[in-house]
Amino acid sequence: MIDMTTKTLAFIGLGIMGSLMAKNIQKAGYTLTVHNRTKEKAKALIADGAQWAATPKEAVAHADIVFTMLANPTVVEAIAYDKNGILPNMKKGALWVDMSTVNPSFSKKMADAARNHQLRYLDAPVSGSKVPAEKGELIFLVGGTQEDCAEAQPYFDIMGKATHFMGENGQGSAMKILINLMLAQSMAVFSETVHLGEAMGLGKENVVELLLNHPVAAPILQGKKNNILNETFEPEFPLAHMQKDLHLVAQTAFEHHYAMPLANAAKELYAQAKQHGLGNQDMSAIFQWLK
Ligand code: NAP
Repeated sequence: MIDMTTKTLAFIGLGIMGSLMAKNIQKAGYTLTVHNRTKEKAKALIADGAQWAATPKEAVAHADIVFTMLANPTVVEAIAYDKNGILPNMKKGALWVDMSTVNPSFSKKMADAARNHQLRYLDAPVSGSKVPAEKGELIFLVGGTQEDCAEAQPYFDIMGKATHFMGENGQGSAMKILINLMLAQSMAVFSETVHLGEAMGLGKENVVELLLNHPVAAPILQGKKNNILNETFEPEFPLAHMQKDLHLVAQTAFEHHYAMPLANAAKELYAQAKQHGLGNQDMSAIFQWLK
């Protein structure tokens, strides 16, 4: 049994997800050192006792475990390599747990970079959006060593309801992009179908209700029902991140010499929606774009 009280924890990236995940660790009684590009988003955590770090360097300097929850691989890489960033400034032997959604080959690259700095690394992206993050009901998909996963497990248990150890570094990210690939396409297919139903005069509410209660619809779409009916798309999972994830799928497929005609069509659909100003809306705003 790991003694959590002796661990010093840092958390970097306090956006929609990170702020809620860090909050749950704090609510469980642990003191965090936190950093975010925009300090404003750390206010609630600081008010409840979190230590503010002005730079990632300051955040990680004394940490045994560093959690990151950042937008995309470019941001993770920039913060990892910067002289005031993660890799040059973590304590030797400490553990970096990257929970951001990134591509598997990028996770492997970060794992190698961590090893070169005598650090340990887990890719531990999550499935579940804002509400599960708030309730501590995320699902962790982990790549790395089982020993490192066991060390982070008590914190995964605070932030989530399940942990799946997928294998070596990169395999957590591999599983994560598969899940989002299914979600992106299900959302787009559902939206297009509802629009045709309306065009045929069936009535939006009827079509949505019937489809969602029919086995053809993915259960996750239930959570987007009110967005579709009310045509309001308050961001839980920003559409720009979904387009990013489809880009990561396409990049990964390229690396594996694998054709993904449907995924690439979906990727361009989400790219168009983003280009036309829907990037900061929820990913279900693809419904709006298809209209
Ligand atoms: P978000 O609200 O957009 O937060 C992104 C985080 O990255 C913020 O901390 C942001 O800092 C930081 N960031 C962005 N650009 C930066 C830059 N150039 N330099 C430094 N920091 C930068 O996104 P989120 O929804 O929390 O998602 C975070 C990660 O989790 C993403 O990889 C996403 O794909 C994944 N994810 C999201 C969900 C979801 O439902 N939302 C679910 C599962 C996984 P600022 O606060 O300063 O902007």
